[in-house]
This record gives sequence, C-alpha cells and structure tokens, in this order.
Amino acid sequence: MPWSALLADERRRYLVQQIELGGAEVILGRSRAEEQATPMPADRRTEFPARAPAAEQAATVACEPAAPDTAAPTPAADTAPSGVPKWKRGAPPVPGPGLAVLSPAPVLLGNDLAALPTLDAVAERIRTTYCCELCPGRKHAVPGEGNPEARLVLVGEGPGATEDATGRPFVGQAGQLLESILDAIEVPRSSVYITNIVKCRPPQNRKPLPDEIAACIPYLHRQLALLQPKVIVAMGGTAGESLLGVRKSLGDLRGKVHTYNGIPLVVTYHPAALLRNPNWKKPTWDDVRIARQLLDR
Ligand code: URA
Repeated sequence: MPWSALLADERRRYLVQQIELGGAEVILGRSRAEEQATPMPADRRTEFPARAPAAEQAATVACEPAAPDTAAPTPAADTAPSGVPKWKRGAPPVPGPGLAVLSPAPVLLGNDLAALPTLDAVAERIRTTYCCELCPGRKHAVPGEGNPEARLVLVGEGPGATEDATGRPFVGQAGQLLESILDAIEVPRSSVYITNIVKCRPPQNRKPLPDEIAACIPYLHRQLALLQPKVIVAMGGTAGESLLGVRKSLGDLRGKVHTYNGIPLVVTYHPAALLRNPNWKKPTWDDVRIARQLLDR
C-alpha cells in the first residue's frame, strides 16, 4: 500500500476511534513515531491536573475548587486547609465492579517461569530469551522497573524508541507525562512499578499482535504474582484487554473497578494518547484519582 494510503487509513481509524470514545473535538495529532522523534511544542504539552474542556469547566467551578491550569503542583501546595489533598477535591466516587479475572494457573505459564523467585530473575529471563518475532529486532528488552514493594503497578502497551534504546520503561515523552500524572496524585515514580504488556519494541511502534502478546504476557503474570500490588492501572486499550483477557473498547473498560486475581484494576488512556488528544486529559485525571482512592482503602 502506498505511504499516503497508509496515512489516510491511519487517520480514518483514528477518527472512528474518536467517535467511539465520544471525543468532543478532533485533533489530528502526530503518530507515536513522530512523538518519539521530536519534542512536543510547548502549547501542545499536556499538563496535570488536567483542565476540563470549557463547557465542563463552567459546571466544575460551581461545585468544586477551580482546577489549576499550571503543571502538577508541589506536594506542599497540595493540601487544602481542610486537610483534603488537592487531587481528592472533586474526584469522582469509586465506581462499581467490572470484570473479575483470575491470572492463569502457574502451570500454564510454561516451562519454569512460575518458579522464578524474584523480579530480577524474571527480568534476566526476559533479557536473555527470544520468545516471539519482536525479540530479534530489539536493542534492549524492557522488562519493567520500580519498587519491588510497589502498591501501585502501571502497565503500558510496549516499549517505544527511547525505551528500546535504554532498556527502561516510560522514559520518553509519554513517560514524562506519566510522571506528572503520578506527581499530581502524590505518588512518586520511585514508589511504583512500571511495565508493559510486551517487553520488546514493536516495529514503528505498531500495536503488538495477538501472538506477540500471548508469547510475552506470562512474564507480566509472573511479575504481578511476585509484586502482589494493591492496585493495578492498565494504560490504554491493549493493556486493559490483555490483562482482562477480553476484546472490548476502552470506553467499555473505563469507569469500573475490575479485579485481576482479586486486585483492583482500573483502565485508563495511554499517556501517548493524551499527547495526541488533550480531550482525554480530564477523563484520565478522573481515572487516576479513582486508582488513588483505591490505594488509600
Ligand atoms: N509506551 C508504552 O506503552 N510503554 C513504554 O514503556 C513507553 C511508551
């Protein structure tokens, strides 16, 4: 297919997705590959706490303190005199239950994966194994990183160019945005564990294919079994669908508290999607504040 037709096809799929998700405004953004290559201009950068779209802002002001329009505030400024943290003011209530899934039985994880005793051992296995077509193309595998005692685990789709170059998850532009989201809910990056559904970069940052996900996801199941977090946040449809083992739209998966092996799991937008469409900042801000409340329970 010629390049121009590919682009047109990508834009058409993007518009269809926008309509499905109820986006009020269509902004034809840059591809993930473009985002990785050049920094986003300042006026397109996404900052948290997110500002509601204009119509929603009017309603918001009437019932809660105005959402700040600056970057994530410092923790010192985050507590109102009432003692209520800023992220909690106007946060949506924790929604009702969604899907309840169990992780596969250890025997289904294949060979001796279930016997790997630590996160480091899982990471070493990932770095030294080829399990699907993505592996030979990698510069570095990206097993995940963070606090082995993490109460919050964040799961993305798959490494991009910067992650492939460094072997670390979410260190490119999407990672910077993720850090400001975490700051805004007063959760330091150093306290969480961050990983992906697939551990090697798909070519041109395309979505991982079903057989690539199937080959790689046993590592994630083992990581989650070792971490036993209090809350899981799946960032993007691929992460939500893969962890829950269903084919559903992001719209269907958001707004519920699913459980993975009894662990509350919230699905939200992928940070890279927010870089493309600022309309999704507000719903993401709501989702992460739901996850934050679950952490406090
Ligand atoms: N996007 C992802 O899904 N994962 C990363 O690690 C980086 C970008």
